[in-house]
Amino acid sequence: MIELIQGDITKQEIDAIANAANSHLAGGGGVDGAIHWAGGPTIMQELKEKYKGCPTGSAVITGAGNLKAQYVIHAVGPRWKDGKHNEPKLLASAYQTSLELAQKHKCQTIAFPSISTGIYGYPVEEGAKIALQTVAQFLKENPVFTTVRFVLFDEKTYQAYQKVYQPST
Ligand code: ADP
Repeated sequence: MIELIQGDITKQEIDAIANAANSHLAGGGGVDGAIHWAGGPTIMQELKEKYKGCPTGSAVITGAGNLKAQYVIHAVGPRWKDGKHNEPKLLASAYQTSLELAQKHKCQTIAFPSISTGIYGYPVEEGAKIALQTVAQFLKENPVFTTVRFVLFDEKTYQAYQKVYQPST
């Protein structure tokens, strides 16, 4: 099932925590900074050892350090330009790849932040639609997750997801 909550993703007890990373996997501000801060340095060490960056629209997986999770899935969403640079497809693909990676690692529960709608400037309602549609479609085709939890940090983002969410989809 899909859950929407307002909160801090670094506090979740869950199999996998998705991160809104950048393609250099270099850490940054926003949720990325919060995850590395709370998870400790082993996450960045593993990223550096195993991966040379990650293309936009894809994701990579590491352990979760001090977080109450097994894995962190570092998903790279698109930077919003004008909506004509494949942004919707790339955003959907970031969620899709994350779900596939979580499934491959036998996760039953996963938490997502609102990828790309912070520093990357993706309009929040549009981002919410894509996030929810992509997850709902995946769950229909692969009923492997007991919980997909969107952890939305601020009131505005939480409201946008609530507005767009249709439990039947
Ligand atoms: P991006 O660069 O992909 O836009 P950001 O980290 O700037 O990523 O923002 C993505 C979303 O994550 C924003 O809605 C932001 O408010 C939210 N966010 C920031 N910190 C946290 C946190 N600790 N838990 C959950 N969401 C967070």
